Amino acid sequence: MRIYDIIEKKRDKLPLTKEEISFFIDGMINGEIDDYQTSSLIMAMYLNGMNDKEITYLTDAMAHSGDMMDLEKLFGNTVDKHSTGGVGDKTSLIICPIVASLGLTVAKMSGRALGFTGGTIDKLESIPGFKTDLPNEEFIKQVKEIGISIISQTGNIAPADKKIYAIRDTTATVSSIPLIASSIMSKKIAAGDSSILLDVKVGSGAFMKNMHDAKKLAKSMVKIGRSLNKNIMAILTNMDEPLGNNIGNSLEVIEAIEILKNGGDPRLRELCITLASNMISMTSKISITKARKEVEKVLYNGDALDKFKQLIIHQHGDVNIIDNYDLLPKSTYKFHVIANQTGYITKIDSEKIGKLCNLLGAGRNSKDDNIDYGAGIIMRAKIGDYIKKGDVIATLYTSKENDSFENIYLDAIKTNRNYKKENKLILGYIKK
Ligand code: URA
Repeated sequence: MRIYDIIEKKRDKLPLTKEEISFFIDGMINGEIDDYQTSSLIMAMYLNGMNDKEITYLTDAMAHSGDMMDLEKLFGNTVDKHSTGGVGDKTSLIICPIVASLGLTVAKMSGRALGFTGGTIDKLESIPGFKTDLPNEEFIKQVKEIGISIISQTGNIAPADKKIYAIRDTTATVSSIPLIASSIMSKKIAAGDSSILLDVKVGSGAFMKNMHDAKKLAKSMVKIGRSLNKNIMAILTNMDEPLGNNIGNSLEVIEAIEILKNGGDPRLRELCITLASNMISMTSKISITKARKEVEKVLYNGDALDKFKQLIIHQHGDVNIIDNYDLLPKSTYKFHVIANQTGYITKIDSEKIGKLCNLLGAGRNSKDDNIDYGAGIIMRAKIGDYIKKGDVIATLYTSKENDSFENIYLDAIKTNRNYKKENKLILGYIKK
């Protein structure tokens, strides 16, 4: 087999076989295929697309290019929730304790923040003492003891995806649904959970800006999962504005705790209940109505909050933060954003807000940047809210001197005298 012939075949819009795709991935990983040949093939895939079989072959080959976790052998059935990424998305901090308190096993490996979206690991590490780099034996022992552990991604998970993603990032080939679907799913397949709930975000603050593309991506990922024997479904959810009111690491931990205390922002609460109920229903084969009742029960009776406390204690964090938010990291300065217009908020550019959060110090632009855990934003008005000129509409937290941060925030908000649009939260379900 020659890579030249594989590139030629894809250039001429012919489908590739399993053997050809494996040959490409193996050759790329062991250095026999050069980056310029990989780029050509990726561009041909981008331009000419791939059929369902090719997407599955690519996913499987990328998943097997590094370590494969066998969670099923270690723990029996496990469940994961994966979000395609959004600003202020702290749902993992809430949903994982909820479903673990209802008996599901959560052995989760999460990522750190890069660019304008946050990472679960950074959020957890804002809790003083919290360790996410547990040795393997400690991770396994904890999952067996309390049914939940969340650690940072270790080892060599899907190295072929890492390499291809770096090439896509520099060759204008990121925005391809088959390539995004296989990239996300290769990491999920290598992570080894038996059930996967995908939260596919749609809107201004997401990879997928419209429903048409989001549906296509969700369908493709569900198909890949099914053909590789996973119990999988996707929920399409709104990302036209940041999720909840708080953005930034310790601020998001506070907001997550408020939901686990059975309070908090109603929209965030509703999303978490919907996602958690579907995880329970799809793994325990009970109706969604019954699953929802169970989820509401553990929020009400404190079991989900207790599970979060156990998670903190087992991972060496200071559990006193639950009742004393002052123990969480704080930034030096606080600035209020004052509305310069009167009217209904009709649009919030989530990507701009995410980038502002980075500028305040809450994220990183390269993987070695330090994070200011206390930095971030509390949004005090969201889409559909009526604001008056002079109102405080947000508070910004940072350890940097003010650099017109308020103006960047104001620039991300659009108001109008009228507001009619329905701002739906759950936009659809993809089960096959
Ligand atoms: N997230 C991924 O992991 N891969 C992509 O290609 C896009 C988003």
